[in-house]
Amino acid sequence: MNDEIRETKPVTSNRDPIQTLIEEFRKLPGIGPKSAQRLVFYLLKQPDEVTSSLADAIVLLKKSLQLCSWCNNITDINPCRICNDATRDQRFICVVEEPFNVISFEKSGGYRGHYHVLHGVISPIDGIGPDELKIKNLLTRLSETTVEEVIVATNPTTDGEATAMYLAHLLKPLEIKVSRIALGVPFGSDIEYADSMTLSRSLSGRTVL
Ligand code: ZN
Repeated sequence: MNDEIRETKPVTSNRDPIQTLIEEFRKLPGIGPKSAQRLVFYLLKQPDEVTSSLADAIVLLKKSLQLCSWCNNITDINPCRICNDATRDQRFICVVEEPFNVISFEKSGGYRGHYHVLHGVISPIDGIGPDELKIKNLLTRLSETTVEEVIVATNPTTDGEATAMYLAHLLKPLEIKVSRIALGVPFGSDIEYADSMTLSRSLSGRTVL
């Protein structure tokens, strides 16, 4: 009996599938070893349809999404829905660090302008200069549209402030108002974790740079 099992069992990989998936989950933000293990054993108990649909969703995420050529937000259509929305206020562009910051501002409900996602901030320690950020197409947008104000909503950190000052200096010759969100968002914190009320206040209390 034992010999039969040994003969019919196909050997497809030397890697332990449980350990492999635990290691993959551990690479995700906020997932420690115990959480990774819990997720894997939870998935093991699920029917095949559930695990297959999760795997498909992960593959589809990268295949169907792209960056909006206007604002650099992650989107399934280009330009994205916000850039395409004629009811949005064309006079304002809110500059944020990451695509998930757009979600935070949208949830706050107090902003109806457009966005521009930098995909990072200037960070000399990490070797990230202005050329590594999506600044070029911001300049293109500003030269092709009638934007009246650029609201810099990078995080209130040293790098976020340095990026805001860099943009203010860069945009000065264009004679477009550049403002900075108010520090209702505490210094050193992350916009991602600010509540909707704080974000709305930080927008309404913004100051000109
Ligand atoms: Zn867009």
